[in-house]
Amino acid sequence: MAKQPIITLLTHTHPDGDAIGSTTGLYHFLEGLGYRPTLVLPDPAPANLVDLLPDQVLIHSLDPVAADQALTHCDILIGLDFNQFKRTGSTETAASHSSARKILIDHHLNPDTAAFDQIFSEAGRSSTCELVYYLLLAHPTVQQSASKLSMDTLYSLTTGLITDTNNFNNSLSPATFRMAADVCEAGVDLDRITEKIYRSNRSNRIDLMGFLLNERRFQLKDVGAEYMLFSLQDQKKFDYLSGESEGFVNLPLQTKRVRLSALFTETDEGCIRVSLRSKRGFSANRLAQRFFNGGGHENAAGGKLYLPLDDVAAYFEKAVRTFLLEEDPQ
Ligand code: 5GP
Ligand code: MN
Repeated sequence: MAKQPIITLLTHTHPDGDAIGSTTGLYHFLEGLGYRPTLVLPDPAPANLVDLLPDQVLIHSLDPVAADQALTHCDILIGLDFNQFKRTGSTETAASHSSARKILIDHHLNPDTAAFDQIFSEAGRSSTCELVYYLLLAHPTVQQSASKLSMDTLYSLTTGLITDTNNFNNSLSPATFRMAADVCEAGVDLDRITEKIYRSNRSNRIDLMGFLLNERRFQLKDVGAEYMLFSLQDQKKFDYLSGESEGFVNLPLQTKRVRLSALFTETDEGCIRVSLRSKRGFSANRLAQRFFNGGGHENAAGGKLYLPLDDVAAYFEKAVRTFLLEEDPQ
């Protein structure tokens, strides 16, 4: 028998439901085929997603030597839910320099085509999990039947479908609902997933949400933009855990006149994490690329700022006004 290739799976920093769901979904599928893949995460998974993880996971921020080794000494490196190695944080160097055959499976705009040997990139997909699902359906062992996928794979992939669409609120297409219907028929209990994601939070999260909305939210009324500033001091005050502010940036968009919402999160890594959400007609992706060292999707993007938090308000206002003038000079 031919020697089995060594496969390593990798996703982006601060992994969300789509990052964890797509890597673990593919991991369980490969395991079912008899491979022994290794999963590398740049940082730990949020608490409400750890049940999806296999027994063995290498977390770079906790065990950099072993994680780098897995990225360097593999035959195939599969990147999921990011478009460029820069998005994988501290694993960037080992991953991008690995001599492995590099495969990308992703749904963000502008994939780094030079960095990979093979790319499955579809920006029209709601989530990387949706893309992985349709790729797996085409596998000879699956024959277009969701019921041939294991429950572990189905629950992982459905988690990312739910979280990246904000529980079927955005980025929807007929294929999204087709997948949801298929997985339900195959035995996935959607309510079990939404209970875990949306109805199992600590009360700190609600307190924090109220605090940020009431005390740290600012408006640029004439341009329909709002932003929130989340300092390290406030993170300490609310005993904030990574991932607990997921979804906050969407809230100001519930107001009709708001078309851009931003959340700036101070980190102890010397930068501010930027989250942007916009409504149709306003490109969060281009704004993130132009002013926030990032990118993402048309209406959901992110990036980084290397400024003190106190300077962010002025920077944001200038960036938004300049951007609007550049996009529509009249
Ligand atoms: P979130 O606001 O949920 O962290 O990210 C929203 C979207 O923007 C995600 O699709 C994410 O991949 C992308 N994104 C977040 N941060 C960055 C970043 O620093 N650089 C780039 N290129 N994209 C980002
Ligand atoms: Mn995604």
